Amino acid sequence: MSNGAYDDNNIFAKILRGEIPSHKVFEDEVAVAFMDVMPQGTGHTLVLPKAASRNLLDADEETLTALMPRVQKIARAVQKAFNAEGVTIMQFNEGAGGQTVFHLHVHVIPRFEGVALAR
Ligand code: ADP
Repeated sequence: MSNGAYDDNNIFAKILRGEIPSHKVFEDEVAVAFMDVMPQGTGHTLVLPKAASRNLLDADEETLTALMPRVQKIARAVQKAFNAEGVTIMQFNEGAGGQTVFHLHVHVIPRFEGVALAR
């Protein structure tokens, strides 16, 4: 159960509609990935389903089933591209859960031994 309706004026909805720019690194019929503007680490990438879901709590099974293989694909690609030793995957739900943009997205952050995230 989520805490509110989907607002199609959220910033990621605008990016998906091409109304504001992004540094896009992947797109197919299901999902888009672009670079985070305030990265918590080198190569911080966001993966979004095109389908309108507020967050994981709100998403339908079809969206989630389609999304995870894309997350894996992007995680492998960013690990390779940035020569990372590991990858952190994060996903926040509702304000209390740390979410600030209310279109479902998954954070993919390349990681290096001894290097902490920026925030
Ligand atoms: P948090 O802001 O706490 O990380 P979210 O999981 O909702 O919570 O993440 C939103 C992410 O979107 C943040 O990492 C933020 O830097 C990023 N962001 C906000 N606006 C843009 C934008 N225009 N383009 C790319 N990334 C953005």
